[in-house]
Amino acid sequence: MSMDTPEKKILKDTFGREVSYLRLSVTDRCNLRCKYCMPEKMKFVPREQVLTLEEIYILASVFVDLGVNSIRLTGGEPLIRKNILWLVKALSELNYLKELTLTTNGIKLPMLAGSLKTAGLSRINISLDSLRPQRFSEITRVGELEQVLKGIEAAIDAKFNKIRLNAVIQKGFNDDEVSDLVNFSIDKGLDIAFIEEMPLGDISSHQRNSTQITGFSLREQLSEKFNLQLSDHRTAGPSKYYSIANSETKVGFISPISDNFCGSCNRVRLTSEGRLLLCLGNENSIDLRAIIRQNFNNKSALKKAIREALTLKPERHYFDPNKTEIVRFMNMTGG
Ligand code: SAM
Ligand code: SF4
Repeated sequence: MSMDTPEKKILKDTFGREVSYLRLSVTDRCNLRCKYCMPEKMKFVPREQVLTLEEIYILASVFVDLGVNSIRLTGGEPLIRKNILWLVKALSELNYLKELTLTTNGIKLPMLAGSLKTAGLSRINISLDSLRPQRFSEITRVGELEQVLKGIEAAIDAKFNKIRLNAVIQKGFNDDEVSDLVNFSIDKGLDIAFIEEMPLGDISSHQRNSTQITGFSLREQLSEKFNLQLSDHRTAGPSKYYSIANSETKVGFISPISDNFCGSCNRVRLTSEGRLLLCLGNENSIDLRAIIRQNFNNKSALKKAIREALTLKPERHYFDPNKTEIVRFMNMTGG
């Protein structure tokens, strides 16, 4: 990764927002089945429709050529993709990419954390919705908390620049654990972000309107125990951060339902089948796989298509927990 300032290239949408951040889903498959993310019997994309790692690399390099300077690898579970270390290393060597990060459920980190750091990954987000073993297994359907805790320790040992926990908080499921999760983060020297559940994909395990809880009410709950101060800490993503007195830990709130952040959106997403999504809450997309499979090295056709696609980026999302208008599941989109 190079921190040199190139002749600055800027990718802009029709609302004047600069798009500098790409979320790349390297697989829709996963070793967990979180209830808010996917149905129990999820149908995954046939393998031949999934981009190869080489195709992902070429597409990512085109985005970087166009002005993207931050990439997050996600999924599905990115660490179950075979040869993921090859991709991390190749991307981390891209000139003008300032930051390469990854979101994981942590299960594979005991095996991979050190190699990911060596391959050039700078920051990592690890999802952790509960510290109670039985509850963790209920939320993830098949997961064991112990494995994720070992993954977190492995990431700490690997000394990433920053590690952030991600917790999707659902009323009646885990909203009584926010203080415990913050205390755990303080204890381990990590940041944490609380995420509002989004109505993506038709899941049958629960009614999404009954589990909604706002970031604001979590913050109020936390303020009774912690001295939270609004911080100017920023990452490439939409989290609003608060610092805690006498601690390095930052507490973030990602509130796509209750506190719309679309005005400052800097992101686009590439699904594992090569669909470029301009917004999480909207189906506008273009098929980059069709272009790259027609001519692997035709970067100018890809650039033209991406620039044109930006005109499809909507001004904002409209999420209504009472209805599921977006049929795509979160594992297909890449969080
Ligand atoms: N498997 C990895 C993981 O769980 O960290 C990466 C992919 S996952 C789709 C990325 C993030 O999206 C996770 O933090 C997960 O908790 C979050 N997520 C999944 N479904 C969601 C939903 N319906 N609303 C809000 N966040 C969701
Ligand atoms: Fe898998 Fe992540 Fe979705 Fe959970 S949130 S099912 S770990 S992709």
